[in-house]
Amino acid sequence: MVKTYKILILGGGTAGWMAANLMAKSWSKQGFSITLMESPDIPTVGVGEGSTPYIRRFFEQMDIPESEWMPQCHATYKNGIRFTDWTTKPGFESYFHPFATDIDNPHFNLFKQHVALRRQGLNISVHPDDYFLMTHMTKRKKLPLPTGQFSHTLFYAYHFDAKLLGDFLKKRALCAGVKYLVDKAFEIEKHPNGDIAAIQTHSNQRIEADFFVDCSGFSSLLMQKALDVPFISYRDSLHNDAAVAIPSAAEAPFLPQTLSAAMPCGWRWKIPLTHRTGNGYVYSSDHLSGDEAEQQLRNAAGINNARTAAHHIKMRVGRNQAHWKRNCLAVGLSQGFIEPLEATGLQMTLITIEQFIAHFEKGNFTSRYQENVNNGINAAFDHIRDYVLLHYLANNRNDTQYWRDCRGDVAISDSLRSILEIWSQGGDLEQELQRQNISQYYPSLSWHVILTGMGVFPSAHYQNPSLNQQFQTSKANMKAFFNHCVAQFQSSVSANQQGSVQNVY
Ligand SMILES: Cc1cc2nc3c(=O)[nH]c(=O)nc-3n(C[C@H](O)[C@H](O)[C@H](O)COP(=O)(O)OP(=O)(O)OC[C@H]3O[C@@H](n4cnc5c(N)ncnc54)[C@H](O)[C@@H]3O)c2cc1C
Repeated sequence: MVKTYKILILGGGTAGWMAANLMAKSWSKQGFSITLMESPDIPTVGVGEGSTPYIRRFFEQMDIPESEWMPQCHATYKNGIRFTDWTTKPGFESYFHPFATDIDNPHFNLFKQHVALRRQGLNISVHPDDYFLMTHMTKRKKLPLPTGQFSHTLFYAYHFDAKLLGDFLKKRALCAGVKYLVDKAFEIEKHPNGDIAAIQTHSNQRIEADFFVDCSGFSSLLMQKALDVPFISYRDSLHNDAAVAIPSAAEAPFLPQTLSAAMPCGWRWKIPLTHRTGNGYVYSSDHLSGDEAEQQLRNAAGINNARTAAHHIKMRVGRNQAHWKRNCLAVGLSQGFIEPLEATGLQMTLITIEQFIAHFEKGNFTSRYQENVNNGINAAFDHIRDYVLLHYLANNRNDTQYWRDCRGDVAISDSLRSILEIWSQGGDLEQELQRQNISQYYPSLSWHVILTGMGVFPSAHYQNPSLNQQFQTSKANMKAFFNHCVAQFQSSVSANQQGSVQNVY
């Protein structure tokens, strides 16, 4: 018979409430008792408005339809990310990283053929923006919602108000039987064997549990502080360690994308929500002060009202050496964080909880599979770090020392180094990804898109009229195909009966 566990989740940010929901769904019927405790005076980080398509899996697992959660969280659809100004190379000042679907497969193959010709020096202009459906849809403000039948299901993600998503998940968890305590942990008590025994709180409670989930944010109270798990910093690769966020008015119609625009000492995001636009600047505090960052963001985003408050955040970039140790799992910012250039925070949160639940059950609620889980999560963190780092390595900006430092003396993993060597030597990138078995983190399409979108090509040196003609014809056919498809999707804005404008979720 399975023992009935008492689980205590420390922290009520998005990570805590996601864990509470998924664990309650898996285990409340088995009589597990799940309690979430959060401090009344330590706020949640309050940012995190973008996502990857992984987040859809969460809502699907929880049987929560879009029509229920999206309006409550002022959510919008996200077709991908537009990167602007990361290079100054003519023709490569901007590119879109789409969430690709299987309808893109034939054009992805064509893209790879064209890229191969361009990498061999044929003088043709190859840019990823021409080849993927979501890119064309986004340019025309189309949502991934067909107006009628469409032959393929599109792959997409969401933007949402992080605070409202937390509130929504909290309500769901409480309905599912999760108990809720508002109190501040101040001492962690351990068993003689080193496991966590109980949390002593400010109001003199002693809360015992069999298993603890550390969702305490950057402070990582249980995993790093109580269990002494080392933190492995990524600062030797990634310079950014701070962010400032300022909202501005909603735009309608909006582009269903995250904008990631390079700035003098970092980059800024622009995220469309239905009630406001989220703006933020992720920067390096070695290169820029908080006040300067705030002013640069206000200027770039056109936020003239000085009374709109800015939210300044310090970021600790890196990961724990382990995410599951003894009777404790760290989830969310307490387990690690990579700057949100590819919006992977909640993806890592979800993967960690899913992996833990699956392996804890498989190991009959013992630590048997702890190492597998830790190795898998560490690999995911490191490979996401590599993909994010490539944005900086491939930049060619010279306007500030920051950009020179970003491609200067930085630590590069063997995996990324090998990818870059294969690319620059004209080798087969896909084969290399397979050899390293890393396509599950970023697929071949993403690697091709970033390298070509940032114009990482040798200089073109030959003409071939017949190949050039074939290239032009296939691009014209592709354009006609995308025009036909895009016409079948809803816009990010629709006229209501009064003729005013209304957002479509
Ligand atoms: C600038 C920035 C931008 C980001 N953008 C994205 C994005 O676009 N997409 C994405 O997926 N992710 C993003 N993230 C990450 C995302 O914000 C987090 O993964 C997510 O909000 C989860 O945070 P959390 O729950 O781990 O921590 P927090 O939100 O910090 O919550 C910590 C909780 O722990 C509690 N706590 C702390 N100490 C104690 C104590 N002593 N006793 C009791 N309770 C305690 C607090 O009260 C709080 O409830 C971003 C992060 C940053 C910093």
